[in-house]
Amino acid sequence: MTHATGTLYIISAPSGAGKTSLVKALIEQTPNLHVSVSHTTRPMRPGETDGVNYHFTDRDAFIRLVEAGDFLEHAEVFGNLYGTSQTAVEQALARGHDIILEIDWQGAEQVRRKLPQAHSIFILPPSREALRHRLNSRGQDHDEVIDRRMAEAVAEMSHYVEFDSLVINDTFDHALDDLKAIVRSYRLQTVAQQARHTSLLQALLSD
Ligand code: 5GP
Repeated sequence: MTHATGTLYIISAPSGAGKTSLVKALIEQTPNLHVSVSHTTRPMRPGETDGVNYHFTDRDAFIRLVEAGDFLEHAEVFGNLYGTSQTAVEQALARGHDIILEIDWQGAEQVRRKLPQAHSIFILPPSREALRHRLNSRGQDHDEVIDRRMAEAVAEMSHYVEFDSLVINDTFDHALDDLKAIVRSYRLQTVAQQARHTSLLQALLSD
């Protein structure tokens, strides 16, 4: 995005790559960076709050929103529908906020087509073994369940090449530093700095 409008980031990863914790730390430590709250038809998990983690909706209501053209992107992931509100994202960007969309590769593809200036980041786990370990969430899942999760993760990871930046989550702090560096370098682009430092530039360049 240019001038006074915010930058739009897309962050995708297979489940088990640590995306949610990294994004949480990134927004806590970066001023003016927010995560867009998606709509989903999947059931709420323990510890989640409606309107905070997701806007939880039923399938009929979701389909009505699709038909009304309310979504910037939407996709079916593991049998549930997910979508990003177009108005919410546009309004936040227009207010100058930088926004992260935590979405899957299908959503990323749709956003890239509509908003080519969006910067997309893919997060990878450091190894297959680490991913398998992280996908065995309670340490007691059956092999078939873990195999299915691994196959889904590999399918998601095969799309890494479509993304502008690639972050390997080898250690949490290192990956977080990489994400911060991406945001920081975007904020130093001339168009962004021009909007931020208008009076300085005027003062420096006046006769
Ligand atoms: P979970 O249900 O575990 O929170 O998320 C499952 C998957 O859905 C993750 O890959 C997540 O990035 C993706 N997802 C979450 N919100 C959206 C969205 O609004 N659009 C799309 N396309 N994917 C989403």
